[in-house]
Amino acid sequence: MKQVVLPGDGTVELCDRPRPKSHGDWVVIRVEVAPLCTEYKRWLGGGKADWIGHEAAGTVVEIDSPQHEIAIGDRVVVLPSLACGECDICSQGFYMHCKAWHDFEAETGSYAGRGTLAQYVLRPSYLLYPIPEDISLDHAALSCCGLGPTFGAMQKAQSRDVDTVLISGAGPVGLGGVVNGIWRNRKVIVSEPSPQRRNMATNLGAHLTIDPGDPNATKDIQELTDNEGVQLAVECSGTVAGQKFAMETLSLLGSLIIVGESNDEMRIKASDDLIRTGISIEGNWHFNRSEYDLMFDMIRNAYGVDELISHRIPITDIEVGFKALAAGTASKVLLYPN
Ligand SMILES: [Zn+2]
Ligand SMILES: [Zn+2]
Repeated sequence: MKQVVLPGDGTVELCDRPRPKSHGDWVVIRVEVAPLCTEYKRWLGGGKADWIGHEAAGTVVEIDSPQHEIAIGDRVVVLPSLACGECDICSQGFYMHCKAWHDFEAETGSYAGRGTLAQYVLRPSYLLYPIPEDISLDHAALSCCGLGPTFGAMQKAQSRDVDTVLISGAGPVGLGGVVNGIWRNRKVIVSEPSPQRRNMATNLGAHLTIDPGDPNATKDIQELTDNEGVQLAVECSGTVAGQKFAMETLSLLGSLIIVGESNDEMRIKASDDLIRTGISIEGNWHFNRSEYDLMFDMIRNAYGVDELISHRIPITDIEVGFKALAAGTASKVLLYPN
């Protein structure tokens, strides 16, 4: 089978690997759709990788022993995790946060079936979620990083009184946040430096888009929120500037939920920033397995799900997808490995 690798010289290649084999609870899935995520950053940096990709929807094609819930021919989302399936965190459905992920290479002796940018992947059956008949594989695949992180953030805030939500950063994840916010009947404000990306957010139904560098940006937000600020800000830019801006737009008692990955430090003054304002700051990675039915309900009914997809390309054109993501002209890029 073909599997995408990064040789480490700034190129991207399809290499030949043996098709993985099912064993025990591990089943083989033919990857029908693999969305691109942040892999292009490693490619841009000339990084080396023996496998890439963590998002996919596909069809179960090989099972070693009969499974309770998964059968050959099932269409499934491949959860972006290699969680153990047995610990407390896993049993609560928070697979992403499991501390005992499988060591895929050590357990199988190969990278074949590890990355989703390949014709086949190998996964334990509990890390697959069946796709309802009326939902396409393309749309189901968006439940990974296209819609998932911001969906999880909004689920965390669902019991809070949220009228207006700020999405900080309108990359593919932030644009998914716009879809999530509109579906929940929130007023959605998007802060994003790139005019092109602000345009994408407007096309998805954002009520207001602002350039965080514009001196009037905060004033515009105050006007839209009766001088109160937003009750919820979901940070998707992965920058300290975006985190700070999002925090400053919050109303008293508001919530900042950070979704954009970043290892840079944001400085916070406990008294002025947290105690006097009563705000909360949380992180969110993905969403709970028990929320999948609601996710599919959103995919069925939300505006902008299909519009979130900017490219549909064969896996042989992966470089086209990488270039579009690096240029900031793409939202979700879907690859078809088979
Ligand atoms: Zn676990
Ligand atoms: Zn992803």
